[in-house]
Amino acid sequence: MSILSERRTETRFTDYKAAWSIDQATVEANRCLYCYDAPCISKCPSAVNVPEFIRRIATGNLEGSAELILADNPLGMSCARVCPVEVLCSGSCVLPDMGLPAIEIGRLQRFVTDMALDGGWIFGDRAPATGKRVALVGAGPSSLACAWYLGRLGHKPVIFEKDRLLGGLNTTAIAPYKMKADRAIQEAEYLVAGADAEVRFGVDVGTDLPWAELERDFDAVFVGVGLGPDRLMARLPGSDLAGIEGAVEFIGQIKTREIDLRGLERTVVIGGGNTAVDLTRELLELGVPVVTLVYRREQSSMKGYQHEWEQAVKGGAKAHWRTTPVGFVGRGAVEGVRCVRLTEDLVPIDGSDFVVPADRVFVAIGQSRLGDLLEQVQDIQAPSGLVQVDEHGFTGRPGWYAGGDCVNGGREVVNAAAEGKAAALAIHQHLTGL
Ligand code: SF4
Repeated sequence: MSILSERRTETRFTDYKAAWSIDQATVEANRCLYCYDAPCISKCPSAVNVPEFIRRIATGNLEGSAELILADNPLGMSCARVCPVEVLCSGSCVLPDMGLPAIEIGRLQRFVTDMALDGGWIFGDRAPATGKRVALVGAGPSSLACAWYLGRLGHKPVIFEKDRLLGGLNTTAIAPYKMKADRAIQEAEYLVAGADAEVRFGVDVGTDLPWAELERDFDAVFVGVGLGPDRLMARLPGSDLAGIEGAVEFIGQIKTREIDLRGLERTVVIGGGNTAVDLTRELLELGVPVVTLVYRREQSSMKGYQHEWEQAVKGGAKAHWRTTPVGFVGRGAVEGVRCVRLTEDLVPIDGSDFVVPADRVFVAIGQSRLGDLLEQVQDIQAPSGLVQVDEHGFTGRPGWYAGGDCVNGGREVVNAAAEGKAAALAIHQHLTGL
């Protein structure tokens, strides 16, 4: 992956939730009831103390508010923009039970964490150096969160990243109307600096650097390698036609470079998860006239968030539900996706096949798993390609921990941050006995 282009396509998108002024934030903060036993805290995977950070905004203690958020979630700025708050914190707010709108927790969190990031606010001092060094494999959200806590506790984090960019999918896969790549990198750099971490780019651990060397040279290892390339439908007839590509790979291009979509009239996105929905919205916003989702289940069963899909429909998205591709048609380049309808039990219906015309096809059926990379390491289990760990991220091999997508299969940034934090605290205990 190359360094970000100034002219990258994502710069054409505007924020779908614009930043708030202090007046807007103060008015919203004063609507909060500061509930005892607040459901918005228990719904947050990082257990951010929502009522207290909001109370601090209401009383003008903005630094104190940011300090509280970042203590629980050092990726609080990203999460403020990309968390599905509609189904997490704001989705549990009690105000709608009284006929009032839920508190916009994400926008309040963004208000103070933007200030912290732009002002370079770092809270508290780093603990005295312990002399312990921890290798972190991958520079995505889980590794960054883990490195942050390790660094603040006095250990030396060394991050190994096979590409050239910090932030992992937080940099290359977030819908641009939620967060731009340069903002994700800015946050990652803030964390690296605050943790006094070292980053070694261009090192593919397991290939360029044997796992055994990491174990020899470091006091502990955290594995946050994420997931692999998009899974494609390679067994279907015509899958080698030009114009069929993985959705995550394509979103990465939108995020990092300028791409030419001129002449693109009809696209098909295959899948029903959040990547499929995000890409559908992105293509429509970039001016592609017809974007059609093909998904094998009902709309109500899709993994993508319904509120996001509703936005896609408002933008003109079309869909074929309970439909699956059986091949691709075209001469040299793809011209359409041959599909069949499915019964409620997902059995193909005889004679139901039809072709959805397409100049480009994006496959969003998930990414490959990388747990197998660790097969060379004794005592680490990854039977289905996901690394097995306990609730502290411990793999079973002394000194080895893991978190993020390579463990959970691909969840939210806030889950990766929480897993990185849990592992950091466990590594600290492992290294110091405290
Ligand atoms: Fe405030 Fe809503 Fe949380 Fe209650 S549930 S503390 S009103 S944000």
